[in-house]
Amino acid sequence: MVNYKQIYEEYYNTLKSGVVPVIICNNCGLSSTNLRTSCPRCNSEQLKVIGAKEGIVYSYTIIERGLPITIALLLVDLNGIRVKANYFGDKKKLKIGLKVKPRYFKQELIETLVFEPAE
Ligand SMILES: [Zn+2]
Repeated sequence: MVNYKQIYEEYYNTLKSGVVPVIICNNCGLSSTNLRTSCPRCNSEQLKVIGAKEGIVYSYTIIERGLPITIALLLVDLNGIRVKANYFGDKKKLKIGLKVKPRYFKQELIETLVFEPAE
C-alpha cells in the first residue's frame, strides 16, 4: 500500500528545493509532473519522485495586455515531459531551444516554479 504522506512530502520538498518534481512509475516507467498516488497507465502505487534540474524551451508566447509588464509563458521540455511555466529572465534571450532551469517562486499566495536561463 502506498504511503500517501510520503509521496506528497517528497513532491513538495522537491518543488521547494527549486527543481521540477517528476513522478515515475517503478512498474511501467511512465513519468509525469502531476502529483498522483497511482500510475494512470498500470495502476501501480510503486512511484518515486525525482527532480528535473534543466529543460529546453519547446515553445513560448508573450502576453501583452496594455500593462507596463509583459508575461512570457513557456512550454518547457524536460527530457520528454512538457510543463507550462512563466519565464523570469531577459526576454531578449528567449528563443526556442534555450536551456532553462527552474526556480521556486513564492510571493503572498502564489507558490510555483518559474524558469530562467540556465546559463
Ligand atoms: Zn505504471
